Amino acid sequence: MATTEQDTSTTEAPAADAPVFTLELTQDQKDIRDWVHGFAADVLRPAAHEWDEKEATPWPIIEEAAKIGLYSFDGLAQFFGDPTGLTMPIVNEELFWGDAGLGMAIMGTGLAVAAIAGQGTGEQMGEWIPRCFGTAGDLKVAAFCASEPNAGSDVSNVRTTAKYDEATDEWVLNGQKAWATNGGISDVHVIIASVDPTLGSRGHAGFIVPMSEAKGIEQGAKVSKHGLRASHTADVHLDDCRIPAGYVLGGKEKLDERIARVREGKKSKSQAAMQTFEASRPTVGSQAIGIARAAYEYALDYAKEREQFGKKIIENQAIAFALADMKVEIDAARLLVWRASWMGRTGQKFENAEGSMSKLKAGEVATWATERAMHILGGNGYTREYPVERWHRDAKIYTIFEGTSEIQRMVIARAISGMQIR
Ligand SMILES: Cc1cc2nc3c(=O)[nH]c(=O)nc-3n(C[C@H](O)[C@H](O)[C@H](O)COP(=O)(O)OP(=O)(O)OC[C@H]3O[C@@H](n4cnc5c(N)ncnc54)[C@H](O)[C@@H]3O)c2cc1C
Repeated sequence: MATTEQDTSTTEAPAADAPVFTLELTQDQKDIRDWVHGFAADVLRPAAHEWDEKEATPWPIIEEAAKIGLYSFDGLAQFFGDPTGLTMPIVNEELFWGDAGLGMAIMGTGLAVAAIAGQGTGEQMGEWIPRCFGTAGDLKVAAFCASEPNAGSDVSNVRTTAKYDEATDEWVLNGQKAWATNGGISDVHVIIASVDPTLGSRGHAGFIVPMSEAKGIEQGAKVSKHGLRASHTADVHLDDCRIPAGYVLGGKEKLDERIARVREGKKSKSQAAMQTFEASRPTVGSQAIGIARAAYEYALDYAKEREQFGKKIIENQAIAFALADMKVEIDAARLLVWRASWMGRTGQKFENAEGSMSKLKAGEVATWATERAMHILGGNGYTREYPVERWHRDAKIYTIFEGTSEIQRMVIARAISGMQIR
């Protein structure tokens, strides 16, 4: 349609200082990317197979990451501080390109940190976030425990309770948490518990339970997994576990006010919480992209070397087109992740569940691309002599945790339709 004079008069000219759209990384972003890539290539890649086989927490690797500031409160604050929002996904992609199990051993603490940063008071952040990481010589990890045996996708079904004991000014927690990354080996555990089970998820709150102080919290069964095996996953049991009243995230006064509002039938801030959740999903998506890219690069090199029928296998369109599709899908997923990260960091409203879109696409691409890569390696792809089968095992979790693909589709479908899709 031609632009009329009237049309242009209603179009606001961009302000002189308006940010220019660009996908070119800043020098800072490039430097951080290269620094993390170096660590991933030199430290994670060579150690990946060993820790996958051991299926144990790789403390020496976490220590290496801490030594260079990659595993630290300051590091995380710097990555998150980038006003464009891109540094966080860039760091995660590079780290998980190195290895996903080891990457999660380093980044798993970030889940608890995100909960404390998102829901805690300034004072709680100052005290507890550094404690999630510990100190040089006494490193710690942290755990975020929402899931339960009967509350996975349906988080509203959380049965762990937190009852306030007025006589001692303490919370008393009881219940069982399932699948907790770093569960039981952490000092700081953020436990999602219900203060009023009749209110569903609107009666939930986050509680800080430090293993070093609280009695009645212990690790349950450690889970033996298909992938991400260097990352510890376990149940956590809470049995009359007592913590001071002030250990509820956001403070007791604020929680009491919120619960009173909900009981009066007023709107709670569940929408705001949903927005926070949406904002964390792109980071998880970028981890999946790191795995997918590792597999794609490996398969590309392999296809250019391997000869059958007297020519390189990549000279067959069937192989070359598969690699072309992998590249397109990985780049498309990254763009969705970067968009959502930028939106989250700059406070844009996720009108169409853009955070979920990015996680859905990245998880599905990683699962698909690693399977393609395994296929391109033929029999070698199926053996533990080559890393591709590990990447395939690692990738699958990205369609399951932090909301399965079906749950992401449900969130997107609800956002675009405004209807209660079930
Ligand atoms: C390695 C690993 C690490 C984890 N780390 C943590 C952690 O640190 N903290 C934490 O709290 N949790 C963690 N989890 C738990 C994870 O978030 C849950 O496994 C996930 O949310 C799925 O829940 P579920 O396993 O109970 O599956 P279910 O909810 O039982 O789902 C089973 C299947 O049913 C489908 N489904 C369910 N509801 C619907 C629906 N309405 N419509 C269509 N399909 C549906 C699901 O998509 C899935 O395919 C982790 C899990 C794993 C495996």
